[in-house]
Amino acid sequence: MPRLKRVLIANRGEIAVRVLRAARDLGIETVAVYSTADRDARHVALADRAVHIGPPSASASYLRREALVHVAQASGCDSVHPGYGFLAEDADFARMVAAAGLTWVGPDPETITQMGDKARARALAARAGVPVVAGSDGILRDDDEAVQFGREHGYPLLLKASAGGGGKGMRVVHGEEELMPALALARQEASGAFGDDGMYVERYLSSVRHVEVQVMADHHGGVVSLGERDCSVQRRHQKLVEEAPAPCLTDSVRNNLSETAVRLAAAANYRGAGTVEYLLDTATGDFAFIEMNTRIQVEHPVTEEITGVDLVAWQLRVAGGERLDGIDSPVARGHAMEFRITAEDPTADFRPSPGRIARFDPPSGPGIRCDTHCYSGWTVSPYYDSLIAKLVVHGTDRDESIRRARRALDEFEIDGVATTLPFHRWLLDQPEFIDGTHTTSYLAERLARTHIQQEAMT
Ligand code: ADP
Repeated sequence: MPRLKRVLIANRGEIAVRVLRAARDLGIETVAVYSTADRDARHVALADRAVHIGPPSASASYLRREALVHVAQASGCDSVHPGYGFLAEDADFARMVAAAGLTWVGPDPETITQMGDKARARALAARAGVPVVAGSDGILRDDDEAVQFGREHGYPLLLKASAGGGGKGMRVVHGEEELMPALALARQEASGAFGDDGMYVERYLSSVRHVEVQVMADHHGGVVSLGERDCSVQRRHQKLVEEAPAPCLTDSVRNNLSETAVRLAAAANYRGAGTVEYLLDTATGDFAFIEMNTRIQVEHPVTEEITGVDLVAWQLRVAGGERLDGIDSPVARGHAMEFRITAEDPTADFRPSPGRIARFDPPSGPGIRCDTHCYSGWTVSPYYDSLIAKLVVHGTDRDESIRRARRALDEFEIDGVATTLPFHRWLLDQPEFIDGTHTTSYLAERLARTHIQQEAMT
């Protein structure tokens, strides 16, 4: 397997810039693609070459599989990196890339298909001896199966779209009388978002943390764990803040999580970067698998900061055939946190706020990293997701990370669009977050209890 020489980056925004930087560090040439809305984008300016692929709408540009493969071939690329989102977990695209004689920077299409079908992924995890949340045996064959599940396991339960992602098609049900209407709505949402209304049902765990393990696997049977991340600060099942290592874990639980994740990756014949997600009860140390993501994740930098391992560079290296010897058993150092800064208004129910950024002035100094594609004068498009920057802080321990985060968030100046900066400043003053005792339902409960608008968020 030859080392990669020229990669097509089939994405935009901060992750396109991130991949480009890793490629450049490795001496790999980069070809960017862009829609009309992204003509002045940073990934376009930084790439060795950039090719226009269509109008702003993602379906007419970043999601055009054939066009992307064609651009890769025509521009002499030997590989395609999909980033996250868009086509990153699209097995058909991965297959087309391989059929065109190009290297796909990610796992096998068959692995993507298997893990993308959450019901199948759960079954594989259970076979590999990984604990899973009690749930239906695969996709519900009919609605009555959900009723039977509720009678057997009790409420609340969670309806989940088998093809789901980003918290869509997910519904908590508190009693049998709610079940049928909720199922109908969830199916409708799933079919709209994913073109697939297959559902399964799980017990809803109400006092848990989201803890996930970063794995990396090469093409020679090597699999390593790079430790865990905690992503329990969530709104509508979507992550807002992530940190590594996870607070409040004993060494034995920590090791157990990593070992289990490596076992699952090995059972799935995994290749490249992947994340095994769990829900964990900190009181008992019990954890259960929920899903595996077959791509680099938004929150990968916190792991990079504490391990010193460039995960995106390693994606490119293992795709080019290298062995993982270089990152075997990395030692974690200190504590890192990531704050997702989006162009959304936290005082108006996180309503998107696209528009021109008049001033973009990110923080810097010891322990601060800001992954972004934005600059003063850049226009945040309504066509794409609203992430504008990832503020990552690193300190010797969690307290120092929090202090550095406060400094960095105070320094950060963004004018012209509403952002979640005030939300993050507010969060850093909340006792539950400072103690690290918050669960995945913390934010919803906290936001319901108070008029955050009237609090320190203005
Ligand atoms: P998605 O792929 O849509 O992100 P996940 O399966 O990763 O969906 O779940 C997202 C979040 O939803 C989790 O981090 C957790 O907060 C919540 N969640 C998922 N499954 C359960 C469950 N069985 N009980 C309680 N919360 C859950």
